[in-house]
Amino acid sequence: MLAAVLQSIQEELAPYQAKLVAVSKTYPKEMLQAAYECGQRDFGENRVQEIVEKAEALPKDIVWHFIGHLQTNKVKYIAPFVNLIHAVDSFKLLKEIDKRAAANDRIINVLLQFKIAEEDSKYGYDAADIFSMLDELPWQKLQHVRIVGVMGMATFTEDKEQVDQEFSQLKIYFDRLKATYFENEPSFKEISMGMSGDYPLALEHGSTMVRIGSKIFGHRG
Ligand SMILES: *Cc1c(COP(=O)(O)O)cnc(C)c1O
Repeated sequence: MLAAVLQSIQEELAPYQAKLVAVSKTYPKEMLQAAYECGQRDFGENRVQEIVEKAEALPKDIVWHFIGHLQTNKVKYIAPFVNLIHAVDSFKLLKEIDKRAAANDRIINVLLQFKIAEEDSKYGYDAADIFSMLDELPWQKLQHVRIVGVMGMATFTEDKEQVDQEFSQLKIYFDRLKATYFENEPSFKEISMGMSGDYPLALEHGSTMVRIGSKIFGHRG
């Protein structure tokens, strides 16, 4: 059954050449292992302790995505192995990731999280803050962190038009960042948007990476 779900999602993503991040937070290691055996390699987690334990126990060629809010004082625990941090929302965090990546002799890829949902979400930047950070702060001096795109979460609602509007807003932000700061950076190409409930819409709006949990693994308890 797991194999069939993964396969059908992959078939939906194929025309868009989008990547599937299997969001495995709260699910036991055995379920990740089962998905791994179906060929799934990208997994997303949102708690530091949990991702560290799973990374230690599971195959070493898994590509680990940290998708949650990341506290600065916890970056050091994931810096040795994390592949992509989706939710960077401050320069302070960017600097800390750079420092810890350097200590591990790595470059860590990150996404800037934009606040696109209408609801009062705690995390993510307002667009104005992101643009002023990139204008004013010395992020280009950070040699061990690479900004490869943007991430956002739409409002949790049945209102398709609203979600539509939020995803298209994120695409507009991406295009502006690309044109303004990353025109000559082919690695700046990711738009992480879309979850179990809204990923088909996200794909229509240019998502390159969907983060799907419950549709793959079942409802979280
Ligand atoms: C939990 C989570 C997801 C996956 O949500 P589902 O509705 O289970 O697909 C995606 N993105 C983030 C940031 C999450 O925290």
